Amino acid sequence: MSEREFDLIVIGAGPVGENVADRAVQAGLTAVIVESELVGGECSYWACMPSKALLRSGAALRAARDVDGAKQAVTGDLDVAAVLRRRDSMTSNWNDAGQVSWLEGAGIELVRGHGRLTGEKTVRVTADDGTVTDLVARHAVAVCTGSAALLPGIPGLADIEPWTSREATAVQSIPGSLAILGVGVVGAEMATAFASLGAEVTIIARSGLLGGTEPFVGELVADSLRARGVTVKTGVDAMAARRDDAGRRVLELSDGTTVTADELLVATGRVPRTTDLGLETIGVEEGSWLDVDDTLLVRGFDWLYAVGDVNHRALLTHQGKYQARAAGDVIAARARGGEVDDRPWGAHVATADHDAVPQVTFTDPEVASVGLTAAAAAEKRGLNVKVLDYDLAHVAGSSEQSDAYVGKARAIVDLDRGVLVGATFVGPDIAELLHSATIAIVGEVPVKRLWHAVPSYPTVSEVWLRLLETLGRDSA
Ligand SMILES: Cc1cc2nc3c(=O)[nH]c(=O)nc-3n(C[C@H](O)[C@H](O)[C@H](O)COP(=O)(O)OP(=O)(O)OC[C@H]3O[C@@H](n4cnc5c(N)ncnc54)[C@H](O)[C@@H]3O)c2cc1C
Repeated sequence: MSEREFDLIVIGAGPVGENVADRAVQAGLTAVIVESELVGGECSYWACMPSKALLRSGAALRAARDVDGAKQAVTGDLDVAAVLRRRDSMTSNWNDAGQVSWLEGAGIELVRGHGRLTGEKTVRVTADDGTVTDLVARHAVAVCTGSAALLPGIPGLADIEPWTSREATAVQSIPGSLAILGVGVVGAEMATAFASLGAEVTIIARSGLLGGTEPFVGELVADSLRARGVTVKTGVDAMAARRDDAGRRVLELSDGTTVTADELLVATGRVPRTTDLGLETIGVEEGSWLDVDDTLLVRGFDWLYAVGDVNHRALLTHQGKYQARAAGDVIAARARGGEVDDRPWGAHVATADHDAVPQVTFTDPEVASVGLTAAAAAEKRGLNVKVLDYDLAHVAGSSEQSDAYVGKARAIVDLDRGVLVGATFVGPDIAELLHSATIAIVGEVPVKRLWHAVPSYPTVSEVWLRLLETLGRDSA
């Protein structure tokens, strides 16, 4: 056994842990990062990167098929083996050597193994070969252990070995048929990907698709999935699961019907990776999401931080990395007795987590949203809002882009402050439009000033002008 001391211990080398450590080291602290699986975390190997790789080829093919002149050049279907090869290269074949050398270059020490807190500012790491390393933090410990797939307690479900997002994103051969339980972002993206890769897909959801978004989002995505041959079953619960005689997965549904498929993907949510983390040694309930303040400090502690998925503020890589920049900087500032800027929108707080979280769902059409939905703004926040809707197919840029454009935009304006508080865009390749809305919301740009932000012609961004015209020049 060996014992080593650092200014900062980071548990979990996902995208978030890497960034917390990097910022702290850049500010002059020493940092060690503990990783039990692959450096790079869920995002690099079983989430963002492989899922987008599985989706991209199908999206490119459909884009070509939607443009006369180009569609005549498309004479075949996706080359599934090539798609999987591209996915393998995006995940570096599940080899983290590249990310390990990045850590080395950044001056961050790596200790491989499972980390557990053993008390205040102490962490014990047990490697696969049983080697134990005790780590002591002079200033802080940051828990960046992420989240894992939730398996609901449906009778028989665990016994039939369903897929989680890990098996889906790391798939080696496409099943003939795939049932997907739960249609949030993961379920909707995987339905899109596997349908394009030739599987017969059935999606099963308790309510609509992509809950928490504007209502038209789920409807447009469901219509598109149906048009691609996906069976969409909404308003049903899964009651029991079993295998049939052929070994196929069978789900019994609350409406009395069954769905049978070669594989079943469960995409019903996430749980925090906070079990077996030694939280009980510091009086925190294990298995819970870690509640933090805006500087990412776990409430009740002055040395324990929780950053990324594990704090449940926004389960997205970019938002976790944003938190990581604030956390790494504030840990260093506090360690050195420097000034802490924890005012809203200050350098050391993750203010945007509350009202300005951008998210893209890479379905076809894509869904890009930021800020509040109309319902959240009016009902939860009690804001005096105007909802601006526009059919994206009517913008010149969209008809240039595609002969079959389907899309919609919605902006939510807070009439009392005269600023945008939410925006949602649904349409092919709409993702890149989102950052304009994020900037308008975070910058609290007066809507009157947005009239002077002139969109280029003919681009889909012209929708900004159409939305402003819907509002009227003198309304806000
Ligand atoms: C299918 C899917 C697709 C997604 N697509 C996107 C996307 O396109 N864009 C996006 O922004 N987000 C996406 N997400 C979400 C994104 O993956 C997460 O928000 C992100 O990975 C969170 O980063 P993290 O560093 O907090 O956690 P993780 O990436 O989960 O990393 C945590 C790390 O901690 C390690 N660890 C855990 N416990 C211990 C321990 N006790 N000791 C040592 N190490 C430990 C784990 O092995 C892991 O490497 C997707 C998620 C899924 C499931």
